[in-house]
Amino acid sequence: MDDFCKICFKSITDNSLFNLIKRKNILCEKCFSKMNTKFIPFKIGNVKGISIYEYTDFIKELIYKFKGCYDYELKDIFLFRYLMYFRLKYHGFYIVYVPSYHIEDERRGFNHVKAIFESLKLKELSILKKKIAHKQSDQSSFGRHKINDVIEIDENISLKGKKILLVDDIMTTGSTLLTSIDLLRSKGAKTIEILVIAKTKKKKKEEY
Ligand SMILES: [Zn+2]
Repeated sequence: MDDFCKICFKSITDNSLFNLIKRKNILCEKCFSKMNTKFIPFKIGNVKGISIYEYTDFIKELIYKFKGCYDYELKDIFLFRYLMYFRLKYHGFYIVYVPSYHIEDERRGFNHVKAIFESLKLKELSILKKKIAHKQSDQSSFGRHKINDVIEIDENISLKGKKILLVDDIMTTGSTLLTSIDLLRSKGAKTIEILVIAKTKKKKKEEY
């Protein structure tokens, strides 16, 4: 039986390669080429990262369908063609998912970052948590509150000698990644590398 493309739902007729390796194909060539793989290297907080795709409208829409419209079927399309490559590249690494709010995961019914990256079959460390902290910004009796995003790391964990792959779907400012990197380092992580699906382009004034 033919396989179907998870993006355009068309039947994929030429499956010779995937038949050969006994894997189900989930992307037609047309959609795959529209995704436009780039493997863009970047650095953040002295940590090396790779953005698999450019943040095009097409990729943006796919991520939105998956994450915002809860289209769980799309979870495998992002890494599908590179599973073997990444499994080799990150062999021996532990995977850490950039955390999202617990309440969002519950509404969605799945953690979108985990859903994308668990196909790498790396050992998971669920040690980061994101929460909203209501921080009192002054002492006034009016009780003005400032809301901060807070990421916490499991206090009891030691990452001494461990290689960590930190993963996220979209990298925008990178502030969540930077905070996560600091926390992982504070627990003794030996090597940290980053893999994201897409990184948004820097604004003009940030470019040099
Ligand atoms: Zn297609």
